Amino acid sequence: MNEFMVNVKGHTVSCQVERRSVSRMTLKITPSKGLQCLSPHGVSDTQIASFIHANQDWLKKQVRLLGLSEQFCREHNSLPEQLQLGFDNSIFIVVHERAHRSPRVQRTSKQLQVYSNGSAVQVRQLLKSWIIVYAGEHLGARINALSTQHQLPFAGLSMGFAKMRWGSCRHDKAIRLNPLLLFLPRPIVEHVMLHELCHTVHHNHSKAFWALLEELDPNINAHKSFLRDTSKLYSHIPPFFWP
Ligand SMILES: [Zn+2]
Repeated sequence: MNEFMVNVKGHTVSCQVERRSVSRMTLKITPSKGLQCLSPHGVSDTQIASFIHANQDWLKKQVRLLGLSEQFCREHNSLPEQLQLGFDNSIFIVVHERAHRSPRVQRTSKQLQVYSNGSAVQVRQLLKSWIIVYAGEHLGARINALSTQHQLPFAGLSMGFAKMRWGSCRHDKAIRLNPLLLFLPRPIVEHVMLHELCHTVHHNHSKAFWALLEELDPNINAHKSFLRDTSKLYSHIPPFFWP
């Protein structure tokens, strides 16, 4: 059997069981895959069922994540009607038009006209390309300003949809940001930018690195805990763009 039905706070939730060469059973929840149980080969269904049952209290604390995974199933393939960007509080209305020959996105002030074959795959690809360009311009302007303000020069900026990685800074001081940052609140985005800018001085997560970041971002702890809270992150980013 590969699936168990589990009752969490009166809701029936499915748990996908995956048998692998691991040493013990673990439960995990991700917004896009829901509840999963990893188990060593040779463990019986009865043992797995009682393991899940033994973790009822933990499961009950995860209702927000389980709710997000239901939302993912509902919305991952439905075309978005608007993009709400937390970074600059702008809202773009998305209008979908059929166009087989020249798929493209056209922006008119606060409206995005998406010409596509109507498939979620193509619309996602088109909107992601548009987001990269918008992010390059707007995130780019902000990180340049922060860099100048704090005298932390960097070598160049690129955008990349890394899986749940918000930014990186190479040894040559080239910074890469995840364009999905656009959906997060501005203070969080600036925290990520400052984090990467501090790496131009300290190429590690040493005490000196954290001390510098704390100097530049006095709200460092609140911002770090926001980024650690998967349910907070995903409730800002539309499921259509989740990895
Ligand atoms: Zn880092």
